[in-house]
Amino acid sequence: MIAMVTICASCKKIKDDRGNWIKDDGDVGAHPDIYATHGICPECAQKLYPEIFMKIQVKKQLNNWRQ
Ligand SMILES: [Zn+2]
Repeated sequence: MIAMVTICASCKKIKDDRGNWIKDDGDVGAHPDIYATHGICPECAQKLYPEIFMKIQVKKQLNNWRQ
């Protein structure tokens, strides 16, 4: 079975299937059955791309208001 995970390209945290970013012990990304794609966690997005992060937050807010 091959699992797909997203690894933060900056801090190497991995995103679990519930959408939580957790710290990788070092062997998850190197596991042969795990296919890792690189992404960016919200924490790093905020640090590295504050403008983009702000836009995402605003979009989320707008979606919440519509519901
Ligand atoms: Zn990160």
